[in-house]
Amino acid sequence: MSQTSAEDGDKSAPKTGGAPLRYRRVLLKISGEALMGPGQYGIDNDTVKRIAGEVRDAKALGAEICLVIGGGNIFRGVSQAAQGMERASADYMGMLATVMNALAVQNALESIGVYTRVLSAIEMTAICETYIRRRALRHMEKGRIVIFAAGTGNPFFTTDTAAALRAAEMGCDALLKGTQVDGVYSADPKLDPKAERFERLSYHEVLMRDLKVMDQAAISLTRESGIPIVVFPIGEKGGVVGALTGQGASTVITDEKP
Ligand code: UDP
Repeated sequence: MSQTSAEDGDKSAPKTGGAPLRYRRVLLKISGEALMGPGQYGIDNDTVKRIAGEVRDAKALGAEICLVIGGGNIFRGVSQAAQGMERASADYMGMLATVMNALAVQNALESIGVYTRVLSAIEMTAICETYIRRRALRHMEKGRIVIFAAGTGNPFFTTDTAAALRAAEMGCDALLKGTQVDGVYSADPKLDPKAERFERLSYHEVLMRDLKVMDQAAISLTRESGIPIVVFPIGEKGGVVGALTGQGASTVITDEKP
């Protein structure tokens, strides 16, 4: 099948107020929960379509995008292990959940003309390609959205760590972490009205204050690789483009001086 004609997908230009991109190549981490929409479990098709539209808009601005999608909407290894299941087996089930989510997002993106590849850290050749770093880089150079599935491929890890790892491997300029709120707070703003919101943080502050951004392994890895983390609201319209241009609400975690 020829990829070239539709490789650019949708040509509609999203509105940015003329703001340039702050980051050209980014890894977007979407948690499984972000795909649930109003539901308590599983995949909400309208929500997946909306997020796919956001990714298309960001791509239309010239960004090179790869995705890591969590699996918490379907299966979370830790919680199952707590109920008596062997942790490693539960984690493999969690990784399989991320593959289901990856296929749902791939489907939504391709239905709006955006070309994608799913690359799994665990070999499943009947379903998708196996992750090979150079192959992933080639897909990105060709303008495809690369969706990394099955986390790191190892139990006892999370998709946050997978996101940090793939961002480093792909040479990304930033890791965009979509959350339910508009940045990092000192406490859960839904529970504590006095929670302080941060515009900017260092990796050290995140680790020392034990702020719930991403797990510690992910923070350490992005720090070592010098990759800024941009925490932004994935539920808000234009959230991804806002994070890329710096025009939307977000918290930037970096050691660079502003
Ligand atoms: N998981 C794993 N290794 C990885 C990534 C994920 O074992 O490298 C498993 C783990 O059980 C985890 C589940 O997959 O709970 C789903 O991932 P995660 O909890 O990170 O998803 P999210 O919270 O982003 O939806």
